[in-house]
Amino acid sequence: MRIMLMTDLEGVAGVLNAVDWIHPDSRYYDQAKELLTAEVNAVVDGFAAAGAEEIVVVDGHGPGALNPALLDRRAWLSRGTFKPVWPFGLDRSFDAYSCVGQHAKSRTPFSHLTHTGSFACLSLAINGYEIGEYGQMALCARELGVPAIFAAGEEAFAREAADLTPGVVTVAVKRGVLDDTFDDYDAYSYERAKTSAIHLAPARARELLREGAFQAVKKFQTNPASFQYREFTTPYTLVLKTRPAEGRPPKIVTKTHPDSFIELLNAGN
Ligand SMILES: [Zn+2]
Repeated sequence: MRIMLMTDLEGVAGVLNAVDWIHPDSRYYDQAKELLTAEVNAVVDGFAAAGAEEIVVVDGHGPGALNPALLDRRAWLSRGTFKPVWPFGLDRSFDAYSCVGQHAKSRTPFSHLTHTGSFACLSLAINGYEIGEYGQMALCARELGVPAIFAAGEEAFAREAADLTPGVVTVAVKRGVLDDTFDDYDAYSYERAKTSAIHLAPARARELLREGAFQAVKKFQTNPASFQYREFTTPYTLVLKTRPAEGRPPKIVTKTHPDSFIELLNAGN
């Protein structure tokens, strides 16, 4: 069994805010990378213990957020530019898709460090259904016939994943405590708006991640049909709405494709 494990940073337990933790010049960036890599290792351990043979970890945070020196020896590390960009090296040779460290999509109430791609995104919707970063990759996986089996990050994200990919095994490692009433915020203010959360101790988060990852692979082995995707009908229409950012006014971009979500995402890249 071959699994892709996509990673992100903002949904990791102990990553407390954006300014101090998620940018390369943030004062705790190195600590954040260690916390993410430890969560990745917990997932890799669970996958491997359940029988996964090959686990490809994709460093999905924009500037990169894995510490290769700390990575579990059973994992492969994928990092670099793909052409086309989407779906970051995922193809039909993978049996399953998964993610860890993920945060919820822009505008999600009671999530933490909420955004989609960047804090300049107000919303991204496919056929009227708002998706986040998980949805972008998961719907590529759907098109390739690869099931999404495991989704970990903050609690609001776990709900988002369950809605888009029913049956996916989720693990929540922190819980945002603020509603989302910030549609009129610009990117700078939104990055600073959703920074309140209750975190699991990272050591406890790793226990739950290992167990969830183990259960996801076992479920895949015994009942692969239990992993589902929400239905979307063709043609596909993608609507991106942005917030004001660095003096740029908000904008709305609409793209359509008759039958390929992957080609739709790549259009214009
Ligand atoms: Zn992200």
